[in-house]
Amino acid sequence: MSASISDVRTKVSSTFDQSMKDLKDLVRIPSVSWPSFDSHEVVRSAEAVAQLAQETGIFDSINILRSRVSGGDGFGQPAVVARREPGSGKPTILLYAHHDVQPPGDLGEWNTVPFEPTEQNGRLYGRGSADDKAGIMVHISSLRLLHELVDSVDVGIVLLVEGEEEFGSPSFENFLTDHHELLRADVIVVADSGNWNTETPALTTTLRGNATFKLTVKTLDHALHSGMFGGAVPDAFMAFSRLINSFYSENGSVAVEGLLTNTIATPDYLDSQMRTESGILDGVDLIGEGHVLERLWSQPAITVTGMDIPDVAHASNTLLPTVSARLSVRVAPGQSAEEAFAAVERHISEHVPFGAHVVIEDVNLGESFSTDTRGWAAQSITNALSQAWDCDVVNMGVGGSIPFISSFVSAFPGAQVLVTGVEDPDSRAHSPNESLHVESFKNAIVAETLFLAECNSRDI
Ligand SMILES: [Zn+2]
Repeated sequence: MSASISDVRTKVSSTFDQSMKDLKDLVRIPSVSWPSFDSHEVVRSAEAVAQLAQETGIFDSINILRSRVSGGDGFGQPAVVARREPGSGKPTILLYAHHDVQPPGDLGEWNTVPFEPTEQNGRLYGRGSADDKAGIMVHISSLRLLHELVDSVDVGIVLLVEGEEEFGSPSFENFLTDHHELLRADVIVVADSGNWNTETPALTTTLRGNATFKLTVKTLDHALHSGMFGGAVPDAFMAFSRLINSFYSENGSVAVEGLLTNTIATPDYLDSQMRTESGILDGVDLIGEGHVLERLWSQPAITVTGMDIPDVAHASNTLLPTVSARLSVRVAPGQSAEEAFAAVERHISEHVPFGAHVVIEDVNLGESFSTDTRGWAAQSITNALSQAWDCDVVNMGVGGSIPFISSFVSAFPGAQVLVTGVEDPDSRAHSPNESLHVESFKNAIVAETLFLAECNSRDI
């Protein structure tokens, strides 16, 4: 029998002070996973998470584990893995979060001390308060309540709290291989995204993939006097800019044949909101076509993100022989990154002007993601979110990529992956003044507790 919403809400409220206290203790540990920061702090946060997992009393085993970094000789940061085997015929749910955080950045831009959690106006400020230590505490708080809500805990649980997500999870693929048996699950809940706003819950149902690469365009074997040769001999930048221009149609949408576009249901959202949220300058047009959220969530985008050319202070009167740039291609959900990259490569070879020489190298691919919202787990979590917030759930796309999610999908192809989270549009994850909306945190615990109680009563 599943738990009732009012019962769950009462229990979450009565234990919420403890959830907040434990969250604050985690925020006080500056567990920045970047190599230039003290890795001892990441060990300390892993130990604190393992202790919290221990205290839930529901796990058969709790380990702090590391795997080798792919292509490197060292080990990745410590992850906590706790497992409880399922009763016969019951599903196993893997609960993911990460205990590492971004560096605090410019301290002068913070209104509070980054690693001293501070409550103000219904929000908890501090690095990691939202991303993703609140995710950890949603899992821990829900697990603490499960015993009290069901007659016997039969559902299998895996708690996986990674320690290097903010640094790009360099050992994660190896980790999934090394500990495949320990991590085996039917459903994977990734609590590392956000809600539509503080009143409206969301399930993140799609993520774009990406393909990045270095593009070099060459027209000359050495720089030439621009007066002596300009006008007859093409410089590399001119050829480069013509090529880049061919990527876009008149309104700025991507015009590369073979890069797919998807259709997706979008919630109410106005172009004017996009203008405000992006800080686009007065008089500057938005680009592309279709609903503005479709442009972000289900259409491709191409951006030049860096260039190697002489800087203005050192400009001389010469024709540039070579120009290099890094390009980022965002790939619509449903298209493989490899196929999208092949389409861009083909476009480049067909559109390079003046016979300029082109080199493409240093290619990096990340897969897109989409949830099958008809799966039982997606329906069950949607129902739980909607009860917890007392509001319909938005199926949200995200224009960015979360590379470790595609690692999960390829390591556990049969599992349903559900992306939830505690962030809201004001959370400022990764930026100064990161914060958590406290009521959203509470609702997220209510929703996950309801969901786990439902999973406990389900046979598969
Ligand atoms: Zn995160």
